[in-house]
Amino acid sequence: MSQSIPSLLDMIEALIHTPSISSSRPELDQGNREIIDLLANWLEDTGFSVEIMPLPDNPSKANLIAMLGQGTGGLVLSGHTDTVPCDEGQWKYNPFALTQADHRLYGLGTSDMKSFLALAIDALREIRSADLAEPVFLLATADEETGMAGAQALAARDTLHARYALIGEPTDLRPVRMHKGIMMESIHLQGQAGHSSDPGLGNSALEAMYRVIHELLVWRTGLQEKYHNPLFAVPVPTLNLGYIHGGDNPNRICPECELHIDLRPLPGMALPELRDELLHCITTTLQDSGIEVTLVPLSAGVPAMETSADNEIIRIAERLTGNSSGAVAFATEAPYLQQLGMNTVVLGPGNINQAHQPDEYLALERLEPTTKLLQNLVKTVCT
Ligand SMILES: [Zn+2]
Repeated sequence: MSQSIPSLLDMIEALIHTPSISSSRPELDQGNREIIDLLANWLEDTGFSVEIMPLPDNPSKANLIAMLGQGTGGLVLSGHTDTVPCDEGQWKYNPFALTQADHRLYGLGTSDMKSFLALAIDALREIRSADLAEPVFLLATADEETGMAGAQALAARDTLHARYALIGEPTDLRPVRMHKGIMMESIHLQGQAGHSSDPGLGNSALEAMYRVIHELLVWRTGLQEKYHNPLFAVPVPTLNLGYIHGGDNPNRICPECELHIDLRPLPGMALPELRDELLHCITTTLQDSGIEVTLVPLSAGVPAMETSADNEIIRIAERLTGNSSGAVAFATEAPYLQQLGMNTVVLGPGNINQAHQPDEYLALERLEPTTKLLQNLVKTVCT
């Protein structure tokens, strides 16, 4: 049966050739159902049972959950099917074709991370259900690059359970057990307009924001004194003030001001508590000011991730790769798989420096070690 599955390179080519861009800009956003159908066909031909799970709010996007073997425990190999948008004019090669040059595979999604899905299927093509004491799953998610809606829907449904998970995001084949979270919030202040010649006529939202910014920076210093983790290149939580808009005229008291912030918490800092602290910090600062405060999340946010150094999946991943585990600066879907009870490692063949860049590539020399790694991992965990 497995003869009918295309070769590894043909699978990668088919995935790169099928655009599946996620973007918060609706004119750029695309569905992923064609990719899901390609994967579903290959996996069914390999003997997997396949479920396609359309996203509740957007049926043009779906997750795929494929299972080989029976019973509890087991291992999930996971990757996202979408890519970021690309600026075709900046590319030397066609981003939607697979180009082999300089011992590399060029194309949008080669590193981040369509190739991983093909590598996982290639690694599993010879494995039979009867060989497995515990099941192996392939999970392909939708919409990772925008809001992680696919992984969130999967976590909310709470039906996929396994002992371990590996997410093949680009880590240079180094096991990753930690990343920071992401929280982006809009702080909107509503005051009152009036003629600039008489401050008593209005209530300046811009001046109120000045006080809020001061308190935010004090709060940031406090967080950075309290939380510290030397495994990260930037060992403290960060808070960036990234956007501000307020007012329209020098002779008008500013009635409205809006600030957008980006907070990157370390493991151990829970998003709901941080949001409560943030709101408390702003409302106490503006107590009795007559300014109305609205705090709106700009995205669902991603929790920080940590799997302990002595967890078995980390030890196995370290042993099989010969690399010690560490932390990365980017967020992944790992927190959602952890919510489902899986001990999770992030480990994949690409390099994050090539992701989200023109002429994204995967080094050809990464293919064979990845296939071997995945086969050894399945052998260690599932047989
Ligand atoms: Zn990715």
